[in-house]
Parts: sequence; structure tokens; C-alpha cells
Amino acid sequence: MSLEQALDQLDTPFLISSFIFGGLVGSFANVCISRWPHGESVVSPRSRCPKCKNSIAWYDNFPVISWLILGAKCRNCGLPISWLYPLVEAITAVSFALVYLRFGAIIAAPIYMFFVVCMIIVTFQDLTDWTIPDEISVWGIFIGLGVAFIGMFFPAAELRVTTPIDALLGIALGGGIIFTIDRLTLILLKKPGMGMGDVKLLAMIGSFVGWQGVLATLMLACLLGSVIGVSMILYFKSRGEGEGSATEADASGKNGDDTAGGDVKTETVIRSAEDDEDITLEGHYLPFGPYLALAGVVYIFIGPELIAMYIGWANLAGTL
Ligand SMILES: [Zn+2]
Repeated sequence: MSLEQALDQLDTPFLISSFIFGGLVGSFANVCISRWPHGESVVSPRSRCPKCKNSIAWYDNFPVISWLILGAKCRNCGLPISWLYPLVEAITAVSFALVYLRFGAIIAAPIYMFFVVCMIIVTFQDLTDWTIPDEISVWGIFIGLGVAFIGMFFPAAELRVTTPIDALLGIALGGGIIFTIDRLTLILLKKPGMGMGDVKLLAMIGSFVGWQGVLATLMLACLLGSVIGVSMILYFKSRGEGEGSATEADASGKNGDDTAGGDVKTETVIRSAEDDEDITLEGHYLPFGPYLALAGVVYIFIGPELIAMYIGWANLAGTL
């Protein structure tokens, strides 16, 4: 039996393992999302109830399943536990299975599982706390650069970046574009546009996707942002009539975040509402992180296909 056949045999067990592993990593992602905004350690103390701070027993800490069995309540204090926790675990589990299906049993799979969980943490921390953790955006830049060296030495690894130069260009272009947009917004519109969190985030994504990937990610993020943003504005417009038209877009953004934050993570939501008061004094704040994160993940999955498609369209347009 060749190595390839042996790996084929392992397909289903690997797939199921990726899914379960994803659930466990998603559980850790929840710890990061809930503790990093408060500057707390993600290593100790062990998992605890966000309300009563009691440690959660191992048998109550199975991803998604425990939340369902306990009826979305803490066993100790009976207070509700946010649906965001099982959601993050489920999304991570499914994503890891998809990464395995896309890349197979090669080095790219664990690397991009790592990238995807980073993007999930960024998305949910930005939605609930309106911050992007430096733990990911800054350290991720160096990890992405390290991955580029793997890409250089192992061409068969199917990595998105295959030279450290491409990673460096991705970092510079990603950080540079957002930084320029931020400065231009500040100078021309007299209000902060993106924020340094997004600058560091696209630089980090750039280290994983290279310079072409950064351009594709940014275009995709803007596309997702306009589709999802406009749908949300229309949705909240249809629900809440009579709001001031000047602040409508801003208000629906806030509503969107409150909805995403859920009713249960009250502490975090109140905190971000307070933070928001500070931020709105400076001007409109558009949380762009989740769009960048989602676009980065889409690029990791189908980036080369997207670029080929784009070049195809460009050529087609050129011949017309
Ligand atoms: Zn509790």
C-alpha cells in the first residue's frame, strides 16, 4: 500500500478528529475572547463561569454538548450562559473539518487551522468588545512570516505564501493600505476611519496570504461589508422606524453589535457599550475586523481560484 492509499484509508477518522479537535480549540478560543479584553491570563485559572466565577468541572466542559445538556445554564449559579460560547465552538469545529477537506493530511492543514481559529477569535472579540487582540495581530505577523519559510523549503506544502519576500510585501501592503485609509479619513473627513487594530490585522493576514492575497482580501472584505452592512441597515430600518436619518447607519451598526453580543454576555456588552460612548465622541466607528477576518479565511480556502477568476474577467473585459 502506498503512502497515498494509506492516507486515503485514514480519511474519515482524520476528518472526525479534525472536527473534534476544532471543538476543543474553539473552547480555548472562548477563553481568549472572554479574557484578553480584560488583560487576564488564558492559561490559569481554569475555565470558569463568567457570572459566579466558579470553576467548570471537566464533565461540564465538553464543547457545545455540555451547553446543550445543561440547558444553557451554569450548573452552580443557574444563570444563563451565552449562546456565543457553543457558537464559537461549533464554527471552529466545522472550520477545522473544512480545512482538512480542503488541504488533506499535509502541513498546510494545521497551519491554516491555526489561521482560521485566529480569525474566529478576532471576529468574536471585535463583535463583543470592539477590540482586536494584539496577541493575534502582532504575534501572528511573525508566525505568518515563519510559515513563508516553510513554504519556501517545502513547495509541495500547498501554502499560500511561498517566499518570505511575498509575506513581507503582504505585511507592508496590508498594514500600509489600512493605515493610509485611516490617515486620509482623518485628514479629509476629520474623523478616525479604521483604527490601528485593523492596520495590524490586515498586516497579519498579509503575512499569511502575500501581497496579491492582501488585495483580494481587502476587495472581498469591502464586498462582504457592503452586502452585510446594507442588509443590516435595511433590516433595522424596517424594524425601528423614526430614528434620526443622520445617525441611522451608525445606530444600526450598534444594534448589530448588540445582537451579535447576545443578551447573556451582559458584562461584555455593557462594557463595550461604555467603550462605544467614548469611541462615538471621536466620530463614527466602523467595525471592519470581522469582514477582514472572514475575507482572509475565504482567501485561504479559494484564493488562487479567486485570482484566476478575476484575471479571467479582466481579460474578458479587455477583449470587449
Ligand atoms: Zn455560574
